[in-house]
Formats: sequence, C-alpha cells, structure tokens
Amino acid sequence: MDTIERACDALRMVRIVPDYTEMAAGSALISCGRTRVRKPRDGVKKDGRSVEIQRLIGRSLRAACDLTRLGERTVYIDCDVIQADGGTRTASITGAFVALCIAVDRLMQEGRLVDSPIIRQVAAVSAGVIDDVCTLDLEYAQDSHAQVDMNIVMTRDGKGELGFVEVQGTGEGRCYTRGELDKLLSLGEKGCLELMEAQRTALGERAQVICQKPRLVIASNNFGKLREFRQILGDRFDVVSMRETGIEIDVEENGETFEANALIKAHALMDLCHCATLADDSGLCVDQLDGRPGVHSARYCGVHGDDEANNQLLLKELADKPKPHRAHYGAALALCRPGHEDIVVYGRCDGQIIDEYRGDGGFGYDPLFLSDDLGVTFAEASPEAKNGVSHRARAARMVLERLEAENG
Ligand code: IMP
Repeated sequence: MDTIERACDALRMVRIVPDYTEMAAGSALISCGRTRVRKPRDGVKKDGRSVEIQRLIGRSLRAACDLTRLGERTVYIDCDVIQADGGTRTASITGAFVALCIAVDRLMQEGRLVDSPIIRQVAAVSAGVIDDVCTLDLEYAQDSHAQVDMNIVMTRDGKGELGFVEVQGTGEGRCYTRGELDKLLSLGEKGCLELMEAQRTALGERAQVICQKPRLVIASNNFGKLREFRQILGDRFDVVSMRETGIEIDVEENGETFEANALIKAHALMDLCHCATLADDSGLCVDQLDGRPGVHSARYCGVHGDDEANNQLLLKELADKPKPHRAHYGAALALCRPGHEDIVVYGRCDGQIIDEYRGDGGFGYDPLFLSDDLGVTFAEASPEAKNGVSHRARAARMVLERLEAENG
C-alpha cells in the first residue's frame, strides 16, 4: 500500500520504540515501513555483507561520539533485523543511535559517566532512482529494481551543522547524472533530518545527552573567577565550581612556577571528578625584587591571604628603590581533560607599583598596581575594565584560542 501512496520524497512510516528490551544498557525497536530492527543481540553473523554493514554502523556511531569521553569503556551495539523490507542497514544506524543515547543517559544517571560522549546526532536513510524518478527510502520491491541505489548517513552537531559520514551510491542499472546525485543527496538530507526528529521524539528528555556541553570544574570557589571563566569558556563548557560538584580539595602548591602549580591543582581535581578541570595560579612579579613575590604572592608576608600585610611588606621592600617600580601580574591556567593533552597557558599584564593605595575595588595588590593598559590602579577600575586586560582574562582567552585551534 505504502509504495503506491507514498510521495517520492516521503519517508516510510517511522516508529521508534525506546527501551524495547530490558537487559541492555539501552535498546530501541525501529520500524521503517515494514522493516524492523531491534537492538541488542548476541552472536554475529560473519559473512561479507554482515561485516561490511557492521563496519558501516560502527563508523556511523563513532562519528557521533567523542570517544575520549567514554574513558576505558567499550560500547557493543547489536542490531537484529526482525523483518526486512529494504533499508535495514540505515534503519540499524538510526535505531542504534537511539539505543546509544539511552545507554549514555543511564550511565550518566548512575554517576558512572560525567560527560555525554555524543557530540553529534546521526541518522541514515536510503534513496534511489526508480523508473527515472529520484525516490527516498526504498522498500525492498523498489530497491530490487532500482536503477541507482544510495545509502546516506548524516550527522548534525550542536550548532546545527550537517555532515556526511558516508554516501554509498551505486549505478545498478545505469549510470546516474550529476543532477540526479544532487537530487538524491537532497532527499537523503531531508530524510535524515526527519529521522533525527523521530529520534528526539522517541528519546524525550533523554535527548539532552545529544551535544551536551562537557562539564568543566574550576579548581576554585571564588565567585569572581568563576564568573570570568564562565563568560569566556561558557559556550564550550558547562562551567561549575568545586563546591557545586561537592568536591573540596586543598592541594599543596609546591611548584616553582605558576604553570607548575596550576597543573598540580588541575590534575589533582581531575583525579577526583574524572572530567575536564581548570586551575589557575597567579601572582605579582616585581622587577626590582627579582620577580618576587611571584608564586608566593598570597603568602608573601608569611600569612596566607593577608592582603594588607602583603601590601605593607611590598611598600617596605620598595621604599628605597628608584621609581618606577615596574611589575606585572602573571596567571597560568591549566586545562586538563581525560584523554587529551593538557593545555597550559600564561597571561600577563604590565604596570607599576605606586607608593600609596588608590581605589577600593579588586583585591590583593590591586590598590598599588597601576595598570599600563588602563592608566588607573586595578582597584580604581571597574570589574569589567579589569577583566578586559587582566592576566587571568588574557590567559582564559588563550585557552579558548587553543581549543578553537584544536577543532580547526
Ligand atoms: P591565586 O592564584 O588566586 O592563589 O592568587 C595568588 C595571589 O596573587 C593572590 O592572593 C593575590 O595576592 C595575588 N593576585 C593574583 N591575581 C591578582 C589580581 O588580579 N589582583 C590582585 N592580586 C592578585
């Protein structure tokens, strides 16, 4: 019936039943017309065609995933064709993606996975030329006398950008023209987008595992830093503080450089939360003091975090030195992610130390630090102005640039 009534650019009736079996981490039954595929199943046929299809399904689902987020895990996808009426391999891909999302959601709910590995949605459909007409989603009767036969596997990322994982197009009865190829690809795109909607509908709330931003835990509970990092990195990460994740650590910062200390903190935190972490280490470096207080900035006077005593000691040490007292703030940021190389960057902002306090904003040495960029002390500047030029903001933007360079 379906064959006669269906328009040539229409999909067959799609039905996706999630949670079709109970024993697997995720499962779904997909019906495209009379073709029915369910997942999962044990035992694999090893004839050439099966192996080829297996590989195609594997490639398609790998294209949907950032495997580094899975850690040391293997996901087994079994696709069982219950009833075949054409398009079994494409239905397998579309259905397997739903089962994968369900499994990922379950692992995340159970706290066994922090970040969803699913960075793209993937769906597949067939198209072909039948009696010189480009047609979407062939059933067996159409497929068996198709002049051209094509399978199209497509992805859509978090920005809505579409991509092809695979286009398998064969001129069975005759060659096909460039015009027909374009038409078939358009049909494939239309079909895949509709199937993606069907996948989302079947998944309901669990569709949130698709293209979810990875979590980034900041090795700090300082609200100001958090806000600054969220502003700069929030498009890429779900930025949270240690407190929000229920983690408290106090790592001994015994490195000799800002970079070393940032790395020590980021690694210690990543060992606990198994997701991306960002740590910073910063301080003031004064030329006439050979770069001191440097990594000891917070405890320059001997007591950790006593800003007033730190500032007084700084003024005392510079009192007999000629002006200007050139100085800079430096900040190292370390971004660590499971399965990726660490990113460590260093940002600085230059200025001079003056001999009286000016302004009451900022913190630490800010009332004494006259910024070259702003012409006022950091304590006189608005938080926005300081964030525009600060060592930490510069470093955070460098992290962003490095991430963008990674993605090409
Ligand atoms: P931490 O990297 O947050 O541990 O900062 C170390 C110390 O460097 C702080 O306690 C401050 O004394 C100093 N410091 C770092 N960044 C700034 C800044 O932006 N303004 C003022 N002092 C800073």
